[in-house]
Amino acid sequence: MYYGKQGTIWGIIPPQTSWMVKKILQMHKVLKTSGWNEEYVKHIEKLSIKQLYKAITEKYQKVEWRSLTCNNIACPKWIFILYLALHSRLLIRDRLATWGCVEDIECVLCRNEDEIQNHLFFRCLFSSQVWQKILRWRNINRKVKGWEGETSWANTYCKGKQAKDELYRMTLAASVYLIWQEKNQRIFQKTVRTPAMLAKQVVQEVHMRGRASIRLNCVLATLNFYPE
Ligand SMILES: [Zn+2]
Repeated sequence: MYYGKQGTIWGIIPPQTSWMVKKILQMHKVLKTSGWNEEYVKHIEKLSIKQLYKAITEKYQKVEWRSLTCNNIACPKWIFILYLALHSRLLIRDRLATWGCVEDIECVLCRNEDEIQNHLFFRCLFSSQVWQKILRWRNINRKVKGWEGETSWANTYCKGKQAKDELYRMTLAASVYLIWQEKNQRIFQKTVRTPAMLAKQVVQEVHMRGRASIRLNCVLATLNFYPE
């Protein structure tokens, strides 16, 4: 028996059900703002889940970098770190400093500038060298851009379904993850790798992950070497 607020509907239903009712009522508001009012619903002869999903999701604007995380066959942990980076939610030292967790916000990768996200990916001398090697490995002849520039470039040129695009998105996720891991290992394990060593590991990890896909295997067969 649930003893909630007496005299209201919430008082006679259990908490799990009241949560569900709240969600239904919230969705009612969302549908109403999408034009699905009582009058409209009354006149619908055939309802499909697709139609309903479209009505709900059309209200929300698609984010530009959606393809980088949604259509990416990278390891879940790589995508998770990429997702946090895209949301500026990684625990970068300048964020930790605002909460009073750290005082020194110097970047441990280059020891040259403050650790902020735009620096870490890929303005930092260390991470830019890693990513430059990876770009050369993919035969992409351009200079490394900052975080905004790199995500925008990937969205413009590599959001398709071709194997080479999938491989690019996966490689970006792997690189972001391994650079993030390197930063943490330097702090907590006191180990240091060079940009060449990290770029080599990115390539190894991408090859291992890519083996699961026949389509990616064809592209990876042409990339059977380490970055210079
Ligand atoms: Zn740095």
